[in-house]
Amino acid sequence: MKILKIDHLGIAVKSIDEGKNFWTDVLGLQLTATETVQEQKVTTAFFPVGESEVELLESTSPDGPIGKYIEKRGEGIQHVAFRVENIEEALAELKAKGIPLIDEKPRRGAGGAMIAFLHPKATSGILVELSQRDEH
Ligand code: ZN
Repeated sequence: MKILKIDHLGIAVKSIDEGKNFWTDVLGLQLTATETVQEQKVTTAFFPVGESEVELLESTSPDGPIGKYIEKRGEGIQHVAFRVENIEEALAELKAKGIPLIDEKPRRGAGGAMIAFLHPKATSGILVELSQRDEH
């Protein structure tokens, strides 16, 4: 598997509207895109930082994965995403190594990326996302 870079850090927030000011007003980053991914009950907001991005995640419903995460653990870094060259190949390789996967097959994430999550029990408790985009 070829990992190209840290694609983004996913940060769970109660409100993008309230949470974004630190990233824009204080750090001077730019909010470039927001998108709601209905299947995941989440709205995302992306702030590019050099080669990587910060992704703020706000739940659209208390029973979504981000809503549940915040209820259990509060706001904070929810996942780390690595950009891979070929996500199908990466998942096959991880599966062959016996790594438990949340997504056996890639699915569509925000911004048209193909994404898949590994199970945190394989990674010392960190939720790891793999992401592939057509432009590298
Ligand atoms: Zn993500």
